[in-house]
Amino acid sequence: MKDITSAHKAEERYALAVTAGQVGLWNWNLQTCEIYFNPSWKAMLGYTDREIPNHQAAWLRLIYPDDREWVMTSANIHIEGLTPQFKIEHRMLHKNGSVRWFLCRGMAFRDETGKPYRMAGSTTDITERKRTEQALQESEYRYYTLAKMSPVGIFHTDAEGNCLYVNERWRELTGLTLAEALGQGWIKAIHPDDRSRMLVEWHQAIVGNCTFAYEYRFRRSDGVVSWVFGQAVPEKGLGDNIVGFIGTITDITDRKATEEALRLQCFRERLIGSMLERIRQSLDLGEILNTTVAEVRQFLECDRVLVHRFQPDWTGVITVESQDPKWAPILGTCIADSCFSENYVRLYQHGRIQAVTDIYTSGLSQCHINLLERFQVRANLVVPILQERVQTLGDSSYSESSHPTLWGLLVAHQCRDSRHWQPWEIDLLKSLSAQVGMAIQQAELYQQLQAANLQLQRLATLDGLTQVANRRRFDEYLDQEWRRLKRDRIPLSLIMCDIDCFKAYNDTYGHQAGDACLIAVANAIATALKRPADLVARYGGEEFAAILPNTTGSGAFKVAQTIRAAVQALKIVHASSLVSEYVTLSLGVACTVPDRDTLPETLLKAADEALYQAKASGRDASVYAP
Ligand code: GH3
Ligand code: MG
Ligand code: MG
Repeated sequence: MKDITSAHKAEERYALAVTAGQVGLWNWNLQTCEIYFNPSWKAMLGYTDREIPNHQAAWLRLIYPDDREWVMTSANIHIEGLTPQFKIEHRMLHKNGSVRWFLCRGMAFRDETGKPYRMAGSTTDITERKRTEQALQESEYRYYTLAKMSPVGIFHTDAEGNCLYVNERWRELTGLTLAEALGQGWIKAIHPDDRSRMLVEWHQAIVGNCTFAYEYRFRRSDGVVSWVFGQAVPEKGLGDNIVGFIGTITDITDRKATEEALRLQCFRERLIGSMLERIRQSLDLGEILNTTVAEVRQFLECDRVLVHRFQPDWTGVITVESQDPKWAPILGTCIADSCFSENYVRLYQHGRIQAVTDIYTSGLSQCHINLLERFQVRANLVVPILQERVQTLGDSSYSESSHPTLWGLLVAHQCRDSRHWQPWEIDLLKSLSAQVGMAIQQAELYQQLQAANLQLQRLATLDGLTQVANRRRFDEYLDQEWRRLKRDRIPLSLIMCDIDCFKAYNDTYGHQAGDACLIAVANAIATALKRPADLVARYGGEEFAAILPNTTGSGAFKVAQTIRAAVQALKIVHASSLVSEYVTLSLGVACTVPDRDTLPETLLKAADEALYQAKASGRDASVYAP
């Protein structure tokens, strides 16, 4: 029993150190089943030396019941020589009722035949370490579960930005597998349009060891694009050095879509608002239409926008166009396609809208495809421009229930590719065409008004019988020319003409013949005046007056003689005239250079006096008496 003696010595050697430290020692006699426990061993379980008998049974009792079997099994396996050492972590019962973890290590001693007779070893309390380990495990499990279940994308990179981990949501958003995302693989998930800008931000975060926060898009290989908000914070190691980044990815596609919808709506309202404003400010339909097509093209980012105007026979003309220079202009093109007018006019008249994504797959008739091909069109959007009937004076066909008429079409073309027209794009074109309809109606009303005004103006300035200017117009014109010529010191001449013995003419041929004579004389005088600035007016009764701006007295006298000859040449028979067998004129001419000191009345008076002299001299004569 040499070994037992030396073991005792060893115990004595370590006794001091052991009672102070947390190492329990034990020595188990396999033959007697006695176990020697040192006081530390017992103290670790809260017992004094005397409270635990040195026997295997006491040891077994102190082992946590669930662990008893496998502690014994492990010990037996070692005793049988199947393991090089006995080492096991197991639980034991403390005197205070708590359960504590221990690391138990030991070795069997064997005799010459290899038969084990003793086992000795140490036991250390590892409860704290176990707790920490368990907490760590639990926290890792929690982290893993959180990351796995998270509705947010999660990623983890090293300090250089190489991806180490991405969670399931991240993979779902990007369409990449974990293996594909690792290292720099994740970069290919970034939308190409956002990639360089996003990487600049990301590298700034890495180089500056600061947080990263940026909005960008992911694009999956199946084409699905999502807007995300990516954030990452540096992960610090023990020495406060940056060991990596932990980040999250939030899907903000819905928010972005709402923002975009809002932006589009604002833009649309502004577009319609500015168009309404233009319609209010301008009566020039051409200008309104040209600006409209240009703005619509810019807004829809399409290749061509045009206005197709119908003629009464339902052929059409492209009257306004805005087109990308890459595509041929078709402005002025006539569309006299019977296929079109037969099939579509009626539909458009009832407000039909046509949105064609692709002319080859939308079931269009071949003749329609041919027409669109001619204009290089691949997709088109057509809305009718309907015009409410305007009630005009004397329009007997008008009734309150009259249908709007199809004035034309507002058309958007996509040439470069097929295009799916969005509902809001269709709505936009629809509301714009309603505005265009209004503008057309307004322009038409304005045209009618202008025509009416012109007519009114004519009525206000013309003599009803002779259709030369009336006295009102004469006064106005004389005044106007007087002021103009006064400024430039230029002569102004006046000729007063009076039909000779006209009372007798009326008495002889009747009033109606008198009127006819007046008309003929007025025409003769008007024809005799050659300059655009000359004006003849019916001054009153059978008197006419001619205003000859920029004409000297002698020049005007020549004109007077021409007029007199012209009336003579009419050869209107006048049997009761005192001077001729035909109707004749007496004319008085006056001329002046208008100045501050004279008035138009002076000139009138002078012409009147000259006319009186012509009458006095025997009629059928012109007098100029400067
Ligand atoms: P004199 O050669 O001196 O000018 O004689 P006169 O008869 O032409 O002159 P007077 O002024 O006495 O007569 C003018 C006549 O012109 C009076 C009227 O019968 C006639 N007259 C004036 N206005 C019209 C008109 O609108 N239609 C017709 N038919 N006659 C008119
Ligand atoms: Mg007279
Ligand atoms: Mg007369």
